[in-house]
Amino acid sequence: MAEKFNGELARRGGLVEPVVTRFAPSPTGYLHVGGARTALFCWLMAKHTGGTMILRIEDTDQKRNTPAATQQVIDDLRWLGIEWDEGPEVDGPNGPYFQSQRLDIYQKYTQKLLDADLAYYCFDTPEELEATRKESQAKKENFLYRRPEKLPDEKDVEKARAEGRPVVIRFCMPNEEIIVNDIVRGEVKFPAGEFGDFIICKSDGYPTYHFACVVDDMLMKITHVIRGQEHLMNTPCHIALQKALGFRTPNYVHMSVTISEGGGKLSKRERGKTLVKAIKQIPNADLEKIASVGGITSDELNDFLNGKSQIEQEIISAIADYLGVHLPEINVVDFFESGYLPEAMVNFIALLGWSSGGKKEIMTKDELIEAFDLARLTKTNSLFDRDKLLAFNTEHMKLVDKETLLGHFKKYLAVIDSPIQKADDDMLKRILQINEGAKTLEMVEHKSRFLFLDNDKIEYDEKAVQKVLLKDNGLAMLQIIRDRLDAMGELSEKAVEDMLRGLAEEKQVGLGKVAQPLRVAICGNTISPPIFDSIQLLGKENTLIRIDNTLQKFAAENAKNAEK
Ligand code: GLU
Repeated sequence: MAEKFNGELARRGGLVEPVVTRFAPSPTGYLHVGGARTALFCWLMAKHTGGTMILRIEDTDQKRNTPAATQQVIDDLRWLGIEWDEGPEVDGPNGPYFQSQRLDIYQKYTQKLLDADLAYYCFDTPEELEATRKESQAKKENFLYRRPEKLPDEKDVEKARAEGRPVVIRFCMPNEEIIVNDIVRGEVKFPAGEFGDFIICKSDGYPTYHFACVVDDMLMKITHVIRGQEHLMNTPCHIALQKALGFRTPNYVHMSVTISEGGGKLSKRERGKTLVKAIKQIPNADLEKIASVGGITSDELNDFLNGKSQIEQEIISAIADYLGVHLPEINVVDFFESGYLPEAMVNFIALLGWSSGGKKEIMTKDELIEAFDLARLTKTNSLFDRDKLLAFNTEHMKLVDKETLLGHFKKYLAVIDSPIQKADDDMLKRILQINEGAKTLEMVEHKSRFLFLDNDKIEYDEKAVQKVLLKDNGLAMLQIIRDRLDAMGELSEKAVEDMLRGLAEEKQVGLGKVAQPLRVAICGNTISPPIFDSIQLLGKENTLIRIDNTLQKFAAENAKNAEK
């Protein structure tokens, strides 16, 4: 069971020491929402106990880990408001925090194992390894590397290097049962013979994940390793290494899996699948045009649609944007670009595999920190329920203070292509205010962008035109409204409201019959913020121009309808 925390400190082995957690991403791209959850739990644990959270960049895969990817992870964490106490950009006493800068440290510990005959050099070519693997397969045996009876010495290494063979170092994995004491799962036993001698140093001289992780967890004095359940299988190897190196074993916390609504893992592939489905539903889709939007050939698009090949995420996003298809968000940045608030994300993610213990689910960061307790991590899988996330976001849009919301809105507008970018702070605040109750910033943007478009750029929604303008004398009503607005002085919300209500009464119709034609005229559809505010913000001149444009555009069609 979990250790009990005594105020700010954790007790282990009779000693009292502060909690130290670490988030250790291998940066290959944007931060996945699963990674964000790991980071969040490390952060909550450190904050709750008054301990330290370290951000360690596990960039030992020279091919896959790029500085750009590291920066993306850092930016995503910062957007979520997860601030580390030690790590890149803040430093600290246990650096460097990039594993690629710690090679000399790993070398020292590898040498220690070599000297004690607890590790050894190997020189197998990929073909030789494949042949042994096939042999095991044929015998229906688990493939385990066969340790030579006599371990190679320096001369053998020189010879192998001269022959151009890859030189790696393997750890002598003990043939014994290993027990992992996991805070979520309790005792997990791994029988002897389950793991073979694994590589700790690659042929490029870089350590493998297992080795660098174990050395750093020790040197960085990590007390709690919090990570996803997929790493549980790695932990016996880590425990064996710790034993061989004379290190202590930290507390292990393997968090349960989060599954998507479709039942599988939350993976980027869902975005591709959603796009394929959407394109297939378009009658007579112009595939050539779609391919050109993505900068690919029609053949490449066809292969993608038939499941023969994948296309890059950027291309998927570009095509989806063009078609107006909403893709499921997977990476943290996707949620940002869909107009979610970091406060809502943090709240929602915290409840994936952890329960707050109380009835209350909508929680601020401070409340989460206060309530956090490893004992309430759940063993069962959690569902990534997007409706729930949307509901959380709606609540947090109301909860955050106005200045914070303005800051989020500005950041959001800065990355999307929006005419609202032109607005000043006062205007943005007003827009947020008249959109109170909106579910996301994206919805605020969609509903308000018409205010900033050029008057001749309004796109009319066909259904709205038919239903509101070309039926029940909608256009005639619009003409009356135009004349009354023209006769008014400045268009305050109150003046517009009084005029529209008066007109509705006079004509013995509901307010909608008056307001909707006006709405369609100014924004092209039936969805906008409150009409009185919308007119006031748009101003008299623009309103009249848009009404005139509308009257002119649909006059002929209206006359034809009247003849029928
Ligand atoms: N670099 C590993 C990953 O990104 C870290 C795993 C761990 O927390 O030990 O999955």
